[in-house]
Amino acid sequence: MNNRHPRIVIIGAGVAGIATAYTLQQSGFTDFTILEKGGDVGGVWHWNRYPGLTCDVPSHIYQFAFAPKADWSRIWASGNEIAQYHREVVTQFGLDQHLQLNTEVIALRYHQDEHTWTVSTAAGDTLTADFVICATGVLHHPFTPDIPGMDTFGGTIVHTARWDPELVTAGRRIAVIGTGSTGVQVVSALQPRARKLLHFTRSPQWMLWAPMRLPQFGAVTALLRGLPTLHRAVSKRLPLWGSSLLVDIVTKPSWRRRLVQEYARLSLRVQVRDPQLRAKLTPDYQPLCKRQVLSGSYYRAITAPNAQLVTAGITEFTPTGIRTADGMLHEIDIAVLATGFAAHNYMRPMSVVGRDGITLDDAWVKGPRAYRMTAIPGFPNLFTVLGPNSPTGSISLQYTAELTARYIVKWLKRFERGEIDEVEVTEEATDEFNAQVAEAMEPTVWNTGCNSWYFSEDGTIDLWPFDIATLDRMLDEPDPVHYRVS
Ligand code: NAP
Repeated sequence: MNNRHPRIVIIGAGVAGIATAYTLQQSGFTDFTILEKGGDVGGVWHWNRYPGLTCDVPSHIYQFAFAPKADWSRIWASGNEIAQYHREVVTQFGLDQHLQLNTEVIALRYHQDEHTWTVSTAAGDTLTADFVICATGVLHHPFTPDIPGMDTFGGTIVHTARWDPELVTAGRRIAVIGTGSTGVQVVSALQPRARKLLHFTRSPQWMLWAPMRLPQFGAVTALLRGLPTLHRAVSKRLPLWGSSLLVDIVTKPSWRRRLVQEYARLSLRVQVRDPQLRAKLTPDYQPLCKRQVLSGSYYRAITAPNAQLVTAGITEFTPTGIRTADGMLHEIDIAVLATGFAAHNYMRPMSVVGRDGITLDDAWVKGPRAYRMTAIPGFPNLFTVLGPNSPTGSISLQYTAELTARYIVKWLKRFERGEIDEVEVTEEATDEFNAQVAEAMEPTVWNTGCNSWYFSEDGTIDLWPFDIATLDRMLDEPDPVHYRVS
């Protein structure tokens, strides 16, 4: 039997790309290249550098099981520390030799006769691959609203995901637009030194109070360093334990869900005593419906004398500020867009042309759709890691990325052994999976009447509504009935 080495291209060096590269390396593959459009690894942790950036998932849960870090400086680590962690992991495992930074992929084209992909970069280079693995992430295309008059504004407009480190914010009049996890963090960070901080919110968010700046005690670091076996075991179990708690709360109604929701209401009641302000800060949907925000400082920041909550809709930018629907002109120096991401682009705007000339834009005209997060009908020998329906709202992304990569490896091994040249998921299997998703989505908290970036173009919720056991089962062994191979 032939033993050949598949040429593999991984697109993206964020959480998904690093987990995939590590898994391929561990599985004995040598001919793989990671193409990353950024100047360093880390994905969102490379691109996002705004003041106050913190991961609201505890660090011992938000790390790779294969690279546990003992000495996180805080329970909820800063963006900088997480970016550095990703860099260290890549160095530690020698993945740099496979990495091409500052390399943006603009097109993928499948050649049916040769069963290969041509990968084209913005610099005009091309690579030939037997398999392409898209690890392009979810939250990486900043969404900039089209507000009239933006081009006439005389001050600075900056999106949080493209922060300018030279921007001076102290002593300035700052508007922050948007109140997701990002808006809340950036308001808390900028308010203390701003001359004035205006927070423009279109729909309020529930916020769970948490001591986000809590340090990791030295004794914990010493214990984890001194007992590496225990540390590894804890690092494997903790993300799964945390995930199963969250899955239980968000996917089915129960007293546990109600308890967390009550805690969100209490967090608001206790911290904001002014009934008028509290009314403005009270959402008209259930806590946990949108991506839940955690903060230990926002309510304090917004009630500070130099801060103001603006709930009237934005009508336009003027040369000196922002006008709202009540006719008020709010004069500002800096507008911070914490307006989120085009969350369902995945590998787009890349041009992806699969079998028989089918394009990804056509295949996804009604929104992103894949089989078990990883395979797309019409696109043979192409997989996604943390693709559509990934569990961004419930299960550890590091765990899911590694599991998906190991699933893909099973196909790569069959190619290596010469058993297959081409593998493509069927339409039927993809339809069946999506029908299961739709049914399981019914009792989830995401489906209780709010609007969020979880919803894709066709109104479906782009999340994983199942538990970890289902995730494990679905990504255990590829089901040959669900694929067409040649
Ligand atoms: P987001 O949750 O999508 O929030 C965007 C905000 O911008 C919303 O409040 C939205 O209002 C508002 N907005 C959008 N267009 C607007 C317009 N034209 N006028 C006024 N307001 C407008 O984005 P995000 O805060 O960047 O967070 C995205 C995700 O990134 C999070 O949910 C989370 O998964 C992740 N994240 C995680 C962390 C972390 O600590 N782990 C930190 C930051 C981000 P509406 O709600 O009314 O649409």
